[in-house]
Order: sequence, then structure tokens, then C-alpha cells
Amino acid sequence: MTEALRNFIAGEWVGATDATQDINPSNTNDVIGLYPRASVADTESAIAAAKAAFPAWSRSTPQERYEIMNKISIEILARREEIGRMLSREEGKTLAEGIGETVRAGQIFAFFAGEALRLMGETVPSVRPGVGVEMTREAVGVVGLITPWNFPVAIPAWKIAPALTHGNCVVFKPADLVPGTAHLLSEIIAKSGIPSGVFNLVNGRGTVVGETLLRHKDVQAISFTGSVNTGRRVALAAVEASPMKKVQLEMGGKNPLVVLDDADLKIAVECAVNGAFFSTGQRCTASSRIIVTEGIHDRFVAAMIERLKGITVDDALKAGTHIGPVVDRNQLETDLKYIETGKREGGNLVFGGEVLTRDTPGFYLSPALFTDVPNSATIAREEIFGPVASVTRVKDYDEALAVANDTEFGLSSGICTTSLKYATHYKRNSEAGMVMVNLPTAGVDYHVPFGGRKGSSYGPREQGAYAKEFYTTVKTAYTLA
Ligand code: ADP
Repeated sequence: MTEALRNFIAGEWVGATDATQDINPSNTNDVIGLYPRASVADTESAIAAAKAAFPAWSRSTPQERYEIMNKISIEILARREEIGRMLSREEGKTLAEGIGETVRAGQIFAFFAGEALRLMGETVPSVRPGVGVEMTREAVGVVGLITPWNFPVAIPAWKIAPALTHGNCVVFKPADLVPGTAHLLSEIIAKSGIPSGVFNLVNGRGTVVGETLLRHKDVQAISFTGSVNTGRRVALAAVEASPMKKVQLEMGGKNPLVVLDDADLKIAVECAVNGAFFSTGQRCTASSRIIVTEGIHDRFVAAMIERLKGITVDDALKAGTHIGPVVDRNQLETDLKYIETGKREGGNLVFGGEVLTRDTPGFYLSPALFTDVPNSATIAREEIFGPVASVTRVKDYDEALAVANDTEFGLSSGICTTSLKYATHYKRNSEAGMVMVNLPTAGVDYHVPFGGRKGSSYGPREQGAYAKEFYTTVKTAYTLA
């Protein structure tokens, strides 16, 4: 039976007049549920509820916030199988990845429970006699959180947890393709003892719910993760709004993984396969450009092909699946279009890139590996967001670094080498927000900053203690005593 779910506004679960079907990409006959599509008026109700709840919540004690965040964490971890299963069923990453991501969300809430107790201010002497200066952090207000489909529980967690911990009220707008996971997370938050209106879930279209959040005068800040084009719209709307909004954007990547002659071949192959293809390549930190020096190039490509032959693409929930389906038909068509473009522009497709048939109808695509791809090729420049990676052959380290940095993005970047000299130089000179040595470009810790440079990110970093830069505003108070 198809369940019709609701939005959570002002402490109540409410329906909407419009609904959307949530479909399993591993089996398109499996309709997971009917999810509400909120209207402009529904969104405005959520914003009004958040605004009304703000004075009390922003003055709540650190202990109160600690307890709520802690309770949410414990409940997420206790329900990891259920949430992980829902996540894999609607997004298509493997069950192990779905459960792993859910555990991560629980850890994030635990981290921010601690942060509630660690919010410190500073007191300094004034340059004027008899005057004292205090610097404190206060909540920003009502924050709109707009999230993508590829990490349906971790990304919402790393926005919702710091927002609430620092005393803000939240209107959470998840992506259309993953309402089920958002619903389970919201159910847990709703039952945590959080006061009405502090947290609101509003499912719906970006153009309706998202745009209302962007334009509404009572929303003080927007944190967005998604595509570059939408991110730009978000930023423009945030500065056009009156008053202007604080804005934080996490967008695309075209992350390079450099493999040097002196790399440990096994480590390099694991980094490349994991970074490029796990989670079906649908990660903004995926290594879609593998830049390989000529001394190891042929051995590396041969080892990659061997390793890819052992990869199983199948139903995300099936035991033994390494890579689940592509998230939906649109994304599959985009991936196939890029594969065609790659071939047309002279790339050599040495593995995969084929639509696969499995027991159930789904969007199955074998991991595609191209070689002989110049860094100027379309597939080396544009974010694909699928299981498609290209190998670019370079002469030496210097050329590898130049090619790695020759991109409009700058989220994550990796190098596989046994040389301390090159590893150190690369860490210092890579134009990315996150740099990995002998590790995949995807896969980060939750207690340290996450974010990029150039076209990948805009505004302060997310995650860890740095999250407070966005979710608080600094007050400087002077006292003549
Ligand atoms: P993705 O490829 O991850 O879906 P999008 O940028 O299209 O990337 O979507 C990311 C999030 O932004 C989703 O929650 C989506 O609904 C929302 N969104 C899409 N269009 C708009 C818009 N015009 N204004 C605000 N949010 C939007």
C-alpha cells in the first residue's frame, strides 16, 4: 500500500493538496510513498511558526539544546537499519552506504550536542580607559535549509544540527527525490522534545518552497547544497531580498586524483575506484578526473580494468551489490549523454558505460572509465554526477598539479604518492578546500570543516566547530564600568 505522508509545520503533521510519488530507482515498480508538495502558503506558515518560536529557542539554555541534540543522535543511531534501508531504497546507494550515512548523521548530532556546551565568547580590554569589550555569538534567526538528493540524511543533519544547536529556527526543504529519509529524520526531531515551530519540514518543489524561502523577509539565512546553477539563483535571490540574507552554498566539483609513478598501485586503484564510482559517482567529492603520470599510466589503467570487472552493479538493497542504480531517469540520460560526448571528443572508453538489465526495472549503468582524455574535453570540465571517470596522461608531477588545478571547481583533490616531497607540495598548492593524500577524494570526517574554493562553494565552511561561522552572528558589546 502506498502511504501518504505529511509535512511538519508549527509542531503538527499536516497534509498538502498536491503530492508526488517516491520511486525506488532499483525497481521502478516499487512506489515507496506519496509525499506532499507544499504550497507557497504552507511554506509561509512554516516560516511564521519558526519566527514565532525564535525568541524563546534562541534564549534556551545550552543544557536544553544539548539534551535535544543528544536525544536525536541516540534515536538516529538506534534506527540506523530502518533509515539506512529507506535511504538506499529511494536514493539507490547500497545498504551498507545507506546505513553508514545514517550512522554519520547520528554522529553529527552527537558532535553538535557537545557544541551546545562549548559556545564561548571573548572578553578583551578596550583601547579606551575603563571600558570593557565583549564578543559573543548569537543565533541568526530563521534559516532555510535546502538540500540535495545524494546524501539524504547526512547533509540535512550537518545543516539542521548546527542550526538548532546555535539557537536558530529551521525550515527544512529536502530534495524531491528523497522525501522518505527526510520524513524519518524529521519524525525523530519532532519527537525529541523540541518546542513547536523550532523545526519545520516542508517538502515541495524548489521553484515553490525553495523560492518562497529565498524571497521571504522573515528568513535571515539560507544554507544550500545542490547544483551550480541553482546555487547562483540562491545567491542572487539572497542579495536581492530585503533585508539581504546570509548565504552558504555547496555546489559542484570536478575533483582530481593525481597518481604519481611512485604511488602504491593497490592504494591508487582503491582510491580511484572508491572515489570515482562508489555511491554511483553521485557525490560532489567524487574523483571524476584521474591524472596519471606516464611511468605508471598503463599499469594503473590495466589494474583499474581488472578491479572494475569485479564490481557488481545491482539492486541497492541486495547483498553483494557494490554499486546501486543511478538515482533517476533524468540523471541516467545525463550520464549517457556525457558518455557519448566523451567518445565523440576522442576519449577511449576502456570499461563500462553500458545500461544494464537486472531482475527488476531500474536505472543500472556500469561504471564508465575513459582514457586519453585531455583536460580540455567536456567530460573533464563539467560535473557529470554519475559513475563516469576519465584518465588523463601527464608527463610528471608539475604537469599533474597544473592539470589538477585547471578547473573552475575546487572542492576536493587527491594525490597517491609515496613521496613526502610531492605530498607536501601538493597539499600546499592544490587549489581545493580539501586535500587527500593516499585517500579517496570522497569520504570526510564530521568534526572538521567541509567546503571548497572557486566555483564549488560560497560562504563559510560547513561542519565541525567552523559551522558556527554561518549559524551565529557576532555581537561586540562595550561597557564603561
Ligand atoms: P540536484 O541536482 O542535487 O537536484 P538542484 O540544485 O536542482 O540539484 O537541487 C538542490 C535543491 O535545491 C533541491 O532541494 C531542489 O528542490 C532545490 N531547488 C531547485 N530549484 C530551486 C530554486 N529555484 N530555488 C530554491 N531551491 C531550489
